[in-house]
Amino acid sequence: WKHAPKDVRALLEMSRFHGENVFIAYEDEHITFEEHFRRAVTLANRLVDEYGVQKGDRVALAMRNFPEWIVSFFGAAAAGAVVVPLNAWWTRQELEYGLSDSGAKVLIADGERAERLAGVDVPMIVARAEGDLPAGARAFADVLGEVRADVTMPAIDLHPDDDATIFYTSGTTGKPKGALVTQRNLGQSPMTVAYALLRTAMRAGKTAAEAAGPRRVTLLTVPLFHVTGCFAVLTATVFTGGQLVLMYKWDPDRALQLIEREKVTVFNGVPTNAWQLLSAPSFGKYDISSLNSVSYGGAPAPPKLVERITELLPKRTPGNGYGMTETTALAVFNGGVDYLERPESIGLPVAIVDAKVVGPGGEDLPAGEVGELCVKGANVIKGYWNRPDATAMTFVDGWLHTGDMARIDEDGFIYIVDRAKDMLIRGGENIYCAEVEAAFFEHPAVDDAAVIGIPHDELGEEVGAVVCLKPGARATQEELREFLAERIAHFKVPARIWFREQELPRNPGGKILKTHLRKEILGA
Ligand code: ATP
Ligand code: MG
Repeated sequence: WKHAPKDVRALLEMSRFHGENVFIAYEDEHITFEEHFRRAVTLANRLVDEYGVQKGDRVALAMRNFPEWIVSFFGAAAAGAVVVPLNAWWTRQELEYGLSDSGAKVLIADGERAERLAGVDVPMIVARAEGDLPAGARAFADVLGEVRADVTMPAIDLHPDDDATIFYTSGTTGKPKGALVTQRNLGQSPMTVAYALLRTAMRAGKTAAEAAGPRRVTLLTVPLFHVTGCFAVLTATVFTGGQLVLMYKWDPDRALQLIEREKVTVFNGVPTNAWQLLSAPSFGKYDISSLNSVSYGGAPAPPKLVERITELLPKRTPGNGYGMTETTALAVFNGGVDYLERPESIGLPVAIVDAKVVGPGGEDLPAGEVGELCVKGANVIKGYWNRPDATAMTFVDGWLHTGDMARIDEDGFIYIVDRAKDMLIRGGENIYCAEVEAAFFEHPAVDDAAVIGIPHDELGEEVGAVVCLKPGARATQEELREFLAERIAHFKVPARIWFREQELPRNPGGKILKTHLRKEILGA
């Protein structure tokens, strides 16, 4: 993998090779690689000249999947900045935390986020605004100004070990931690995807030409502010010169329409997206014959899903990818023939990744035994932004401790059997129970609270909570939900709250027995 782009600027330079090919399709806009290159480099120069951005400064993004997200990502990176993609579903409070924790020097937002953050103490550049801009903000198009053909990148020296991006991921402690992705991690990210595709094609007995296939056109169904969108899809597309089709908002019917219109070849997302696509009432009404693969990752995929794909979309290659923010997306992949043979497995590590399973004392476990999954490789990040303790706990001797319980079979195939971390995944969005519980504790009537995952066919899991009120205090489900919605993003607010008279069951160490609680409320 010596020939992987050594940093984000090298990746951007390489993208020019695909020149006049369409890179981004969004509604009626089609942007070529050359056009994208010019815009990104123009923005890089404006950030340096007009905003004083220097190497290592943080530039935050808070946007939906608009083309400007991508231009801003590469533009800020080409200026030598550390790009900080923030979750667009976050509330004002959560976004402010991301801005202050990262120490962002500039924020590039879309109109909706800009309004949400009006008055914030960071210079703002705003794209796709519908009304007036908040005081002091400048429009994206004005900042960009004239985009010329003879653009040159600002003179900045990047090193492969320099920081490239910060992605926020939560933890058991509640407040999100910034995962520090290096230039090397970023440059290697397309290699994991390329390798997974090649291995799958080889296992299916395809020739090299068949494996290369037609130019990839990928429907992006997941947000760019998570690693799956940014690395498994975006950087891989830049590297291979494919096309990305953006959606304003995930919608299965719209997805089917776009597959037909843009002749999409690759469907990518979280398992929920694939489920919803296959179960859409309009499935069958559109010509989706261009599609040749359906893959997903980021959350457990029910083995039934791959059965559905073979039934409804025969001859398409299915794939299941396992990864984390800490592995800059893909680390383990199961695809095609292998996946059909072992629908319960997440597959084999991709090249540049080693995996092992360890026991409670950190000792390596033999095949078949269940322990914590650990991974190592050029795609594994070096640690968390300003969190030496969390870094030391998670990264031991170069091995990332994933918090997932797994076993590895005789042939090296990995199976996730449980989660050691107190987290649930709702439609691909991770929700850390501690963060939701902390929001409950801010309510004066709440004495104790436990947040748990409730199994859900489409979403995988839905958020549930068991709450004990203080003696004599009163609060309804609706009041609590409204209270929470002001503090944490909507997707984290429990869909159902159960009130409990007795104290929550705890082990002698004081830890809430969530398995016990889940059985109690679900009667399973
Ligand atoms: P994204 O940033 O796009 O959400 P991601 O979901 O791969 O990427 P995280 O959000 O950091 O990464 O979540 C990682 C966790 O998600 C893993 O530790 C694991 O618990 C779960 N996970 C990811 N992929 C799979 C998979 N294919 N099967 C089962 N669990 C998965
Ligand atoms: Mg995820």
